[in-house]
Amino acid sequence: VIKRIINSSQLLTLRGEGLGIIRDGGLAIRDGRIIDVGTTEEILKKFPEGEVIDAKGSLLLPGFVDPHTHLVFAGTREDEFDLRLKGVSYKEIAERGGGILSTVKATREASEDELFEIAWKRIREIISWGTTTLEIKSGYGLSLRDELKILRVIKRLRDKSKIDIVPTFLGAHSFPEEIEKGDYIKIILEEMIPEVARNGLARFCDVFCENFVFNYEESKQILLAGRSQGLLPKIHGDEIEHSGGARLASEIRAVSCDHLLYSTEEDLIKMRDNGVIAVLLPATSLFLKSRKKPLVDFMRRIGLTIALGSDYNPGSSMIYQMPIVISLGCLIYGLTIEEAIRGATINGAKAIKMEDEIGSLESGKKADILILDAQNYKHIPYQFGRNLIRTVIKKGEVIYEKTC
Ligand SMILES: [Zn+2]
Repeated sequence: VIKRIINSSQLLTLRGEGLGIIRDGGLAIRDGRIIDVGTTEEILKKFPEGEVIDAKGSLLLPGFVDPHTHLVFAGTREDEFDLRLKGVSYKEIAERGGGILSTVKATREASEDELFEIAWKRIREIISWGTTTLEIKSGYGLSLRDELKILRVIKRLRDKSKIDIVPTFLGAHSFPEEIEKGDYIKIILEEMIPEVARNGLARFCDVFCENFVFNYEESKQILLAGRSQGLLPKIHGDEIEHSGGARLASEIRAVSCDHLLYSTEEDLIKMRDNGVIAVLLPATSLFLKSRKKPLVDFMRRIGLTIALGSDYNPGSSMIYQMPIVISLGCLIYGLTIEEAIRGATINGAKAIKMEDEIGSLESGKKADILILDAQNYKHIPYQFGRNLIRTVIKKGEVIYEKTC
C-alpha cells in the first residue's frame, strides 16, 4: 500500500546543494522507501489512492542523523561538572584519575541487562527529538570483557530499536588504571580488534588521539590494525591540543575526523583532499566552555564537508537533542542555518557512510521523515531548546507522535 504525506508548508529534500526546498511539498512511500517527492498537487495526481498523512502546514525534513555518541554508560558525573565550573580543566580532571575512568568504573560494575535498560530509555527520548539514525561508540569498558559487553548491548539496542544504530569500537578511548599503556595497546591490537571483528560487533574503529591519551603513532597503529580487519577508521582529533589527529585522518583516509578545535588550515585542506568528513561537536564546546573554535569560515571557503554530532557522553556533553546541536552549531561555531541542518542530516549520513540510504528525501532512500510544528526551517535553531517535533517516521512507519 502507498502512503502519502502531503500539505507541508516546506519540504526540505536535502538533495544537491542547499536544503532543496519544495513549497507545499509532499511525498509518497512504499515498503518503507520513498518512491516520489514533489508538490502536494503532483503527489496526489500521481498517487490518487492510498493512506494519507496530512502535514497541515508543517515542516517536512529527513530524520536527524547523529554520527557521534557515547550513549552506553552507567553513572553520571555532575560533581566533575561542578568542579569544572569552579575552574578545574578537563585535562587536570583526567590526570587526577577522574573523567572517563570514573565512568569506566561504573560501567564495569553494571550488568549487561542494566546497561541495556539505561541506554534503551535514552534512545526513547532521543527519538522524540527526531533522531532516526544513531552512531554509538563503546569505550567505557577498557578491557576485553567490558568492551565486548558494551558492544553486545549496542547490538541488542540495534536488534530491538526501530531506528538505525551504527556501532563503533572505541577501546582506545583512554587506558585503564590497572595496566601500562603499552600493554593495553597490545590488548587492543591482539585481542579486542580481532574479537570485535570476528563477531561483527562494530562497523568503525575510533581512537581518542591526543598527546596525553593515544598519540599520533599509537593512534595510527590501532586504526590500521582495525582497518586490516574491516573496521573503518574514525578519529577524535585535535580536541584538546594540536596532536595530529586531523593529519592522521587524511593520511589513512579515515571516514571522519571529529572535534577539530586545534586543527590548522593545512590539516583541513588535506582532509578535504582525502574525502574526510569534518564532524563538529558544538555541545561539547558549550559544556567544556572551550574558547577555542574550529575554523568554520575556512572550512566553508575550501568546501570541506561539515557534519554535526551531539557527542552525548557523561563528561563533556549531556546533550543528545539534535535540534539543540543545530542551534549550537549556529550560535557557537558560526554555521549558517542551512549548513547546520545539512550537518545534522545528509552530511551526518556521510560521516557514517550511509548517505546512499538516509539523510535526504529522495526516491529510493529510506522513508525517515520528521514533521515539525514550524512554518519554515529557520525555526529549528531559532526556537532554542523547544521540541518542535510532531511526528517521527522511520522506514515509513510512525514511531513517535507528540501527545498534547
Ligand atoms: Zn566523542
